[in-house]
Amino acid sequence: MESMSIHELTATELIQRLESGDLTSVEVVRSFLDRIEQFDEKVQAFLRVESQRALSDAERIDQRRRGGDPVGRLAGLPVAVKDVICTEGQPTTCASRMLQHFTPPYDATVIRRLKQADAILIGKTNMDEFAMGGTTESSTLATTCNPWDLQRVPGGSSGGAAACLAAGMAPLSIGSDTGGSIRQPASFCGVHGLKPTYGLVSRYGLIAFASSLDQIGPLARNAEDLALLLEVLAGHDPSDSTSANLPVPEYSQLVSQPLDGLTLGVVREHFGEGLDSEVQAAVREALRVYESLGATVKDISLPHSRYAIATYYIIACCEASSNLARYDGVHYGYRTDEAAMLADLVAEQRALASRGEATALDDIDSPLVRMYRQTRSEGFGAEVKRRIMLGTYALSHGYYDAYYVKALKVRRLIRNDFDAAFREVDLIAGPVAPTPAYRLGEKTEDPLAMYLGDLYTVSANLAGICALSVPCGLSSDGLPIGLQLQGPPLDEQRLLRAARMYQAVTDWHTRRPEGF
Ligand code: GLN
Repeated sequence: MESMSIHELTATELIQRLESGDLTSVEVVRSFLDRIEQFDEKVQAFLRVESQRALSDAERIDQRRRGGDPVGRLAGLPVAVKDVICTEGQPTTCASRMLQHFTPPYDATVIRRLKQADAILIGKTNMDEFAMGGTTESSTLATTCNPWDLQRVPGGSSGGAAACLAAGMAPLSIGSDTGGSIRQPASFCGVHGLKPTYGLVSRYGLIAFASSLDQIGPLARNAEDLALLLEVLAGHDPSDSTSANLPVPEYSQLVSQPLDGLTLGVVREHFGEGLDSEVQAAVREALRVYESLGATVKDISLPHSRYAIATYYIIACCEASSNLARYDGVHYGYRTDEAAMLADLVAEQRALASRGEATALDDIDSPLVRMYRQTRSEGFGAEVKRRIMLGTYALSHGYYDAYYVKALKVRRLIRNDFDAAFREVDLIAGPVAPTPAYRLGEKTEDPLAMYLGDLYTVSANLAGICALSVPCGLSSDGLPIGLQLQGPPLDEQRLLRAARMYQAVTDWHTRRPEGF
């Protein structure tokens, strides 16, 4: 087979050819490495590419296959991993100066699962710093461009994960979604992305942003591949206390069964102010496609959805301020260069203290606190600092009840809205994002405008339900548009089947950006 066309095959097709002996894993890996070599200078989806390691892993799998040994579900298939997920012995940076030189001593559970399935880790992908953002522009290490228009953002925070699929530089990738970070970049880059139900995929080894919202999930170029990767990632993990102890459905088998009598809810509040007319038209057209497949479309209301952004940004920032307290220059990662000097100052102060002359170690200008402050102000970028400050404020004495506790109560009301809606409909369909991909720099000066882009995605995280993004159109500028499907907790199989049904009668998922 010509190496030029390997990247055009789906993961499912690649597996078949690897199994039949039509292709070797070395050929597959080499072909994707060639694509990365050719295109990643432009796209910058990867922070690091593990060429040597990937090739030697591929070699080993080919040998095992030749020797007739059993191999895993994803044997020989390259997978790209967002750089928020710990990989033993390979740097994991969160696209932050703070962790730029951090190498985890262990693998995240999802990485262990990928390795058990004999997948090949091809590299780590770019993201917003600590997964905070919607464009990947807050990465301090690289600027990822959208393959559909290199002047535009790939979305975020899993921008690299989506862009590498769109550019044919990997057949599968994994990301994380705290408020839309898998679905929105998938939508901006014309690929599929799924945020699993809270608890379905282990977060052990996922660097925490907002622990009550974070989920790891798959990105792929079609529904079958998404189902296959989810099946590998999902499952109980005693190392994550929020992990659901349930058997994993056979998503890869279920995905091809069409749904009879599907009822789709369309949320009234999702079609209001701010929704781009082309996105609206594409989503409405997708609903007509579902009707032509026998689905019933029903108007529903999620009355508290207008509070979702405020609720999400309070809770996410509060949890972030707590989770990111660990980056103090002592335990992890970056420490200001002044540290040596400061250490001397600490020693000096201690000596003073022992003579009873001063006890200033808890003073905000004490050398120790200066070291913390300097480290954190140099190690974190502006967006991360903004969120730490917002969260610390909202959690502080006097504001805790007014902001944090109130946000938790509204979160419950948002969940109740979904529970009520799912008594009436099977799934909810609507836009992923109010507009297609922004121009690079368009939103960086206006954090609130950036936050508003998360309007349709954050509720799924607040409610802990599952949701995915399916390509459903192109704008007049040739930019991808995504359809979001949301489902009740643990109903991923239905989401995937609905996505597959749509894909069977449309070809949006087969479109590729020009020049790639
Ligand atoms: N864009 C959202 C935010 O900035 C979501 C991020 C995410 O899901 N990690 O918080």
